[in-house]
This record gives sequence, C-alpha cells and structure tokens, in this order.
Amino acid sequence: MKNVYEIAQAQLDKACSFLKLEGSLQLILSQPKNELIVNFPVLMDNGEYQLFKGYRIQHNNIMGPYKGGMRFHHEVHLDEVKALAAWMTWKCSLMEIPFGGAKGGIKFSPREHSAQEVERITRRFTHALGGNIGPNHDIPAPDMGTNAQTMVWMMDTYMNNATQGQKNAVRGIVTGKSVTSGGSLGRNKATGQGLVFAVQAWAEEFEFDLSGASFSVQGFGNVGYHASELLSHEGSTLKTVMDHTGSIYNAHGIDPVDLLKYSRETGGIKGYPKAEEISTEAFFATEVDIFIPAALEMQITAETAPSMNVKLVAEGANGPTDVDGERILLEKGVMFLPDILANAGGVTVSYFEWLQNRRAEAWTEERVDQRLHTMMTKAYHKMRSIACEHGLDNRTAALAYSVSRIKTVYEERGIFP
Ligand code: NAD
Repeated sequence: MKNVYEIAQAQLDKACSFLKLEGSLQLILSQPKNELIVNFPVLMDNGEYQLFKGYRIQHNNIMGPYKGGMRFHHEVHLDEVKALAAWMTWKCSLMEIPFGGAKGGIKFSPREHSAQEVERITRRFTHALGGNIGPNHDIPAPDMGTNAQTMVWMMDTYMNNATQGQKNAVRGIVTGKSVTSGGSLGRNKATGQGLVFAVQAWAEEFEFDLSGASFSVQGFGNVGYHASELLSHEGSTLKTVMDHTGSIYNAHGIDPVDLLKYSRETGGIKGYPKAEEISTEAFFATEVDIFIPAALEMQITAETAPSMNVKLVAEGANGPTDVDGERILLEKGVMFLPDILANAGGVTVSYFEWLQNRRAEAWTEERVDQRLHTMMTKAYHKMRSIACEHGLDNRTAALAYSVSRIKTVYEERGIFP
C-alpha cells in the first residue's frame, strides 16, 4: 500500500466493520466535504513571480468548525492532505473537542526561501483562501514547515480583510500563534507534552519504569524536540535521532537541548559532535524501549518494521505507520499509541487557545498543562477499555470510539434534506 489516503481508508474500514456501520455513513466519511485548491502568484526576491499550489481540505464539520494544520513541504499533495484532514476529524472526536477536521498546505520547501518570501507566500495563500476559513468555520494551526510566526502572518492578513469593528473578534482565526499575538501558554510544546502524558499513562498501566528507559525519535522539529526534552525529564535516554539531514546515535544518551542548539545553528543534526553518524537502516534497527516517529507519513513499513526492536511506538507524526508495518509490529507484540491519540495534545491546546481568544482570557501554563493531562489520560483509558473489552488493537479501538460519536450525531440530526 503506497498511498497515504489508502492507509487512512484501510484504518477507517477496520473501525467501521467493527462498529457494523451502515454503508451510507462510511461513504460520507470516506471523502472530505470540501476540497479547495488554489494556485497563486508570489513575487520572489529576484523580482520574478512564481506560481504556488495551496490546499485546504475540509473533511467534516458535524462536531464543530473545521480544524487542522497547515503544512509547508515540497511533497504536499492532494491525497496526503485528504488523509491528514480525515485524521483530524477522528482526533477531535476522540478527544471530545467540539471541532471537525481539516488540513491544508502549500507544495514548496520553506528552507529554500528567504523569510520575506515565506511571509509573502503565507499572506498570499491566506488571501486566496479568503472566506473559506474563519474563526467559527475553519481554523488553521501549525504543522510541518510552519510555526507561530506563520500563524501570526495568517492572522494579520485575515484581520486586515475584516471590518474595523471585527478585527479583534477574529483573532481566533488561527491557533498556535505566539503568546504575545494572542496564543496560549503551553501551545508550543503541547503536542510533545500530550505525547508524553500518553506515554506516562501507558507506563502506569503496564508498570513500566520510564526512568531508565531508552527511546528514538525521527524528526527533531516541534514535536520531536519537545517530546524528547520532556521524556528526558522522566529519566529516559534519547539514543538515536533522525532528521532530514541524517541519523545519529549515542549509547550514553543525547541531550535534546544541546542538540537543538546545534541543529538551529547548522540547519540539521548531521555532524553533531557528541554522537556518531549512523545509516537509516541502523536508525530503525537500534534497540530502544520507545520509538517516536515525529516527521513524515509511511515510515514504519514492510521494509523498516522487520528490523525494529521496540516495546512501544508513540506516533507523534500523523500516519507514520502503514498497514503492513503495523501488522508486523503488532505480531511482534509491540504496542501502539496511535497518532489520533498520541499527537492530540496540539489540537487540544489549540482548542484552549481558541477558547481564550473567544473569552479574552489568558490561562496560566499550569492550567493548560493540567487540563491537557486530564484530557489525554481520559482518552487513553477510553481507548484501552475498548481495546481490552473487544480484543482490538489500540488504533482500531480509538477510531471506533471516535467514529461512534460521529455516528450518533448523524443519527440524531439525519442527513439533509
Ligand atoms: P517540524 O517542521 O517542526 O519538524 C519536522 C521534522 O521532520 C524536522 O526535524 C525535519 O528535519 C524532519 N524531517 C523532514 N523530512 C524528513 C525525512 N525525510 N526523514 C526524517 N526526518 C525528516 O514539524 P512538526 O510540527 O514537528 O511535525 C512533525 C509531525 O508531527 C508531522 O507529521 C505533523 O503532522 C505532526 N503533528 C504536528 C503537530 C504540531 O503541533 N506541530 C501536531 C500534531 C501532529
């Protein structure tokens, strides 16, 4: 199975057949409600215009406004964004957040452009989306290749198109903004923090001691770095790291804070002097307790899974495991914390940010972390109780819970007309 959208469909099929879902609802959920593709010109620093292709896929909004990240990456394509949008719908429903699911992005590599060009691309894309996004309709957030600065540019562009009296009322058009521009404390680390809360719940259930555990992380961006740093606080040792520049290993541990400093200075982890460089094959084959994919989709596959020697896969990335990769690891007795649970901390704190914007409040970081902890732990136990009761794998159990909530709402409301 090579296409990420097919993987998302296969996962949905499995959950729907467990739920014995009637055909029409599965049909509705198998496609997004809206697929928006915009081509827009942007002035480059050399005085020439370049045409960019941007996507916004709105999968489902029966539970609330569409919600999901914006990805800037040279491999962004329609089927990828469709799969990512569907996963957002399942994630928000699993977390019982009143949002639907969406995802978007632009097919380009921000690393190959100046900050001024990235700003113009972001603003022109936001303008092209126009009224198709909105604080009560569709709310973007950061994803791969985007960050708080990107969100502030999107917010400012959107605000500039609002009437004078509405400018501050539309601040919640994006989440993941800088705190000074209306973001929430704790949002930057939220996805990594949520992942660690889920890992802690797993460790508690299986009486696994996290101090003294070892882990690997693929992707050392927002999710990979914060997950590594917070897991290190638990006493766990980061043994291998992989990013777009290569893979590194140190049996005695890698300090995430020091590695971040190096990677910010040099543009990647390659050449980090306090670890040895290893191959991609060796990265996957390194024995660790916890493996955290936090980069792209389809990394754990029939090719990589056979060499993996881990106890737990905590999916920071969306869709990092394909159907074959999952089957191989499940047969080995590996447990998964599936993406729609493990990386749900980001959208959960995005929801807190959206609430704060609506109420003109500013929550303390302790309050944010506390509520995030409560919601992650509750979702973990919900997933595990369904998995144990029905003999399901965690992903199918989490998806079944999520889709069953959506099913109830469709049954209550009916399908118009
Ligand atoms: P990021 O842009 O901050 O970091 C991405 C990292 O992946 C970088 O370290 C990059 O070097 C690495 N990478 C890129 N291509 C790679 C490759 N071919 N092999 C190995 N590493 C590679 O992105 P992020 O926000 O940390 O997102 C990472 C993943 O987490 C994505 O799947 C995203 O959808 C998911 N996610 C992010 C958030 C969030 O709040 N940012 C929330 C939920 C899920």
